[in-house]
Amino acid sequence: MVELLAPGGTLEMVKAVLKAGADSVFVGALGFSRRSGYELRHCEIEEAVEIVKKMNKKIYVAMNAVIEKELIPKLIEKRVLDYNEWGVDGIIVKTPEFIKEIRKNFPELEVIASVGCHIDSKEKVEFYHKFGATTVVFSTELRRDFERLEVLNRYAHSLGLKTEVLISGTACYKGVGNCNFFNYFAKAFERIELVDSDGMIVEKVFGNPEKGGGCYRPCLYLDDPLVMKVVPEEVLKEMRKEKNLNERFTLSREVPKFLEMGIDVLKIQGREYPVDLVASIVKAFRSLIEDSLQAREIERRVKEIEKLMEELDKRRMIYTGNLREKLYEKFGLIKSKEC
Ligand code: SF4
Repeated sequence: MVELLAPGGTLEMVKAVLKAGADSVFVGALGFSRRSGYELRHCEIEEAVEIVKKMNKKIYVAMNAVIEKELIPKLIEKRVLDYNEWGVDGIIVKTPEFIKEIRKNFPELEVIASVGCHIDSKEKVEFYHKFGATTVVFSTELRRDFERLEVLNRYAHSLGLKTEVLISGTACYKGVGNCNFFNYFAKAFERIELVDSDGMIVEKVFGNPEKGGGCYRPCLYLDDPLVMKVVPEEVLKEMRKEKNLNERFTLSREVPKFLEMGIDVLKIQGREYPVDLVASIVKAFRSLIEDSLQAREIERRVKEIEKLMEELDKRRMIYTGNLREKLYEKFGLIKSKEC
């Protein structure tokens, strides 16, 4: 049976998405997931596990920012050890060495090679399998390439791996985890120090998604004077050839194909959106899956999801506008509104 995986940006969202019909939820460990904000503190993750287990569902913790080698032993001891004791089902990871260490120390935990691993070939499936991943998330670059997805899905299954695709989320230039464009704006990167509930100090770099800090999303305003000044013309020319830079996509019509293919996990992203909106999206996808499994007509559900996505797009555009403003502030082109 396919697993519907939903975002848990807050404890409230954890409860809401499971009630709405998700089989599992993912939460971000403060400082270590690929999202700025909308992560849970250590004590909140313990609480989230209690909620999830009472509902007899599954929970994964995202630690899929790039993790420095020196930090791995500390994270094993101070984070993953607790998660394992509390009953977390799996850890979502990008860094191969971290995958290896989790697998070695906690063989009972699932280790999910994150969408940030950009898994788009048999070689990559094999690579993460060798490091100890138990699930592979296929690259967003494959989101409409069913032929390749089918081949890779079969191959991953032959190695005993679970497979996952994003059915609703955002795809970056050349695939999530595979874009380097944000590095042109390194001047605007901001180190953020956070103190977790157990006193552990964690660091993020705002502006660098690989370091868990979110992105200024400059790919969405390539004709902006600041972007045109900072980025070489030939790079911009290359990027302008791409139609859907940082595309927000929803694969609702494709759900029956994924079910037929035997993909194990269908994931919805969106920790940063309002709880009721995310819960409604999860509920609509749950109904869509049920209808697909019963070979019922799905058009009504598809339309329902499209409507919800219109609302989500509005929120996303407001957020992107705020990010552009922040980028201008960091480059000293406008004054900060903070007093
Ligand atoms: S949001 Fe844009 S610039 Fe940032 S990582 Fe994604 S594609 Fe690259």
